[in-house]
Amino acid sequence: MHLTERDIALYVEQTLSESERERIESHLSDCPACVEQVAALTRLPLIMADTTAPHLDAATRRRAEHLETWTRTRVRDDSSYK
Ligand SMILES: [Zn+2]
Repeated sequence: MHLTERDIALYVEQTLSESERERIESHLSDCPACVEQVAALTRLPLIMADTTAPHLDAATRRRAEHLETWTRTRVRDDSSYK
């Protein structure tokens, strides 16, 4: 079963509980289609992290960068199979 938009939105916002996050990450490790969805949604927080966003603390910025790098790697891995 694919992730719902709500799952993905909450994942990107990092407001999930630990067990929910693990469920989603385990799905993402097998599902390039859902990784694409996360990657699309991740652009907004990344832009916020990249530009002057004083309301974001350093930890939030690091997590956004980590998430973006991770999703980009997943998407790149998927395209290399084609
Ligand atoms: Zn999926």
